[in-house]
Amino acid sequence: MSQAQEVLYRYFGYKTFRNNQEDIINEILNKKDVAIIMPTGGGKSLCYQIPAIILEGITIVISPLISLMKDQVDALNSLGIGAAYVNSSLSNVEIQEVYYKLKNNEIKLLYVAPERLESQEFIAEIGSLEVAQVAIDEAHCISQWGHDFRSSYKYISNFITLLNNRPIVTAFTATATKEVREDIIKLLRLKDPKIFISGFDRSNLSIIIEKGVNKKRYLLDYVNKNKDVSGIIYAATRKEVDAVCEMLQENHINATRYHAGLSDEERKINQEDFVYDKENVMVATNAFGMGIDKPNIRYVIHYNMPKNIEGYYQEIGRAGRDGEKSECILLFSPGDVQTQRYIVETGTVNPDRKLNELSKLQTMTDLVYSNDCYRRYILNYFGEELNEDCNNCSNCNSEGELVDKTIDAQKVLSCIYKMQRGYGVGVVVDTLRGSQNKKLLECGLDKLSTYGIMKEYSKDGLKEFINTLISHGVIDYGGEFPVLKLNNRSVAVLKGEEKILFKEIKEVKASFEENGLFDMLKALRREIAATEKIPPYLVFGDNSLKEMSTKYPLIKEDFLDISGVGALKYQKYGKQFLELINTYVEENNIEVKRSFKKEVKKLQEKKKSYVETVDMLRELKSIKKVAQGRELALTTIFSHIEQYISEGNNIDFAVDFDNIFDSEEESRILDVIDEIGYNKLKPIKEKLPNSISYDAIKGVIVKKLIS
Ligand code: ADP
Ligand code: MG
Ligand code: ZN
Repeated sequence: MSQAQEVLYRYFGYKTFRNNQEDIINEILNKKDVAIIMPTGGGKSLCYQIPAIILEGITIVISPLISLMKDQVDALNSLGIGAAYVNSSLSNVEIQEVYYKLKNNEIKLLYVAPERLESQEFIAEIGSLEVAQVAIDEAHCISQWGHDFRSSYKYISNFITLLNNRPIVTAFTATATKEVREDIIKLLRLKDPKIFISGFDRSNLSIIIEKGVNKKRYLLDYVNKNKDVSGIIYAATRKEVDAVCEMLQENHINATRYHAGLSDEERKINQEDFVYDKENVMVATNAFGMGIDKPNIRYVIHYNMPKNIEGYYQEIGRAGRDGEKSECILLFSPGDVQTQRYIVETGTVNPDRKLNELSKLQTMTDLVYSNDCYRRYILNYFGEELNEDCNNCSNCNSEGELVDKTIDAQKVLSCIYKMQRGYGVGVVVDTLRGSQNKKLLECGLDKLSTYGIMKEYSKDGLKEFINTLISHGVIDYGGEFPVLKLNNRSVAVLKGEEKILFKEIKEVKASFEENGLFDMLKALRREIAATEKIPPYLVFGDNSLKEMSTKYPLIKEDFLDISGVGALKYQKYGKQFLELINTYVEENNIEVKRSFKKEVKKLQEKKKSYVETVDMLRELKSIKKVAQGRELALTTIFSHIEQYISEGNNIDFAVDFDNIFDSEEESRILDVIDEIGYNKLKPIKEKLPNSISYDAIKGVIVKKLIS
């Protein structure tokens, strides 16, 4: 095993490198400068972190955002790697402490914003140290062509000349364009750098575009069916964000919001609630996302079409950083084009720029209307080829049955034709449904032969149908006060030369159903994260939990085999998780194949364990105290007691349940148990309000057993 592989396994708990991570690391270890272009979630951080651990001396990581620094440093520390940051969020005393640790060789990676490099104090402190590597993350910030240009990035090359020995300089970005790449190399003065460009495809993301669906209904349905996972919903305007967020909250979904109209304080809290899994859904404008490294975002829904493909791809890229399957759903309605055009028209002064933005908007709209593989279209746009269909986009996997809607379409089209001057969707709908609306009658629209010929449609249903016709280019829709107009295709449909075949809207799926153990592992993770005041994903990632929930590791060796479980993580959390998994496997009679030796070891470990719990309980009387003392989850303590009783023993002393449930919760739980028994926890949980935890349920069961 190479040294890099060893570090990967021991600290990060991963068994193999991804893509070209290993080659990149080897170049850096051979003291070469590198420029790395790799998509979001590709795993850029490891490429400089592993050399930082191996190389003699420190690595300075230049990172644009304070929030990113903190997350990365927390993550490294949680893996047992010495890391710190210096930025304006620290007090002077705290900064001095970092300098002290640096001199004491306690820190391998130091994160700073580029502005810090201009501080005399900083230069003086760093000047006396050996700097092995300067790594520039989000390096596109140095380029005028990059979307978030920062002038102090230009100072980096100057700073490097002030160091004793020239360090290895490494640059990382997800921005692909040639101009940006050239700027990075030139402005950072990279020395004969090795350049690595990875493909931009994110194959774990499903790209789904829905045209002509009822957005509200779709969204509610989707979020409801996937409410245990994290997702972002992007909307075009602040007003829309507020409205969508409110709608979700009214429907009892854990949602929060983010846009530039909120106070700094509220934005900060809402973002943190999302990152810490306190809220599952973030509704936001495109102001949200920079500096969010949350790896377990399972879906990104665009409630409106974004204004260009760059923005769209960047935003959907926030899903599935952990490499797990995730969904990106764009809910398109023709009005979105108008909204975006309006934003460009009113928000852009420079005429060249305006033209450029309008042309990008057109390309985005073309993507939506395209009938070919969406992924290929997008990758082509970024100059990359995809030879085969991706089979992971809604054009490749079009499900649902085709239904002939030609006659209904002809009814709509002939109505528009007979109305002579252009009207908006609402008036056409009212006419076709035979509304008694006063204005409509005043215009004499009730005299048309098409008046009232589509009464069988609901108002929303007909609006949806017309929107779908627009989305498929069968009707034109536009102008300053948007109206419906016929085009060549409308004529072809009216003449019967073109058939209208629509897919029946398929049912919204629960895409992320998870088994009971996964839920319980997540609950344990949340409990630990809350105690340690860190985001849950820093305890273990979703992918690690998912692997645990399907492989059922019951002993240390198997647990260390789970991807994302490194030595320190095992030391800190292994016991609690193993207990929980063992308990679960036991209770659900799951057969896990093991070698004989492992089997014996497991039995011995368990035997000791539950007897020890009851002994301790006899002494302390309090469930919580025993859990703390044994460093085990509450649910494990409960299972130990259950096991003790099931072997014919009695608990002949009073036990304190420490307010794990209150009397109201207790009676509600008992009601459900009376109804459906208590063999399985998940059905019980599902019959109760969300606020009642698994711990409470198990607690009540155990209390019942004891008495
Ligand atoms: P980027 O900065 O390129 O957007 P990150 O460095 O944040 O991506 O990595 C994204 C996710 O992928 C992180 O959760 C990281 O732990 C994980 N990851 C990186 N390399 C590997 C690997 N070799 N095996 C498994 N997971 C990895
Ligand atoms: Mg990164
Ligand atoms: Zn495809």
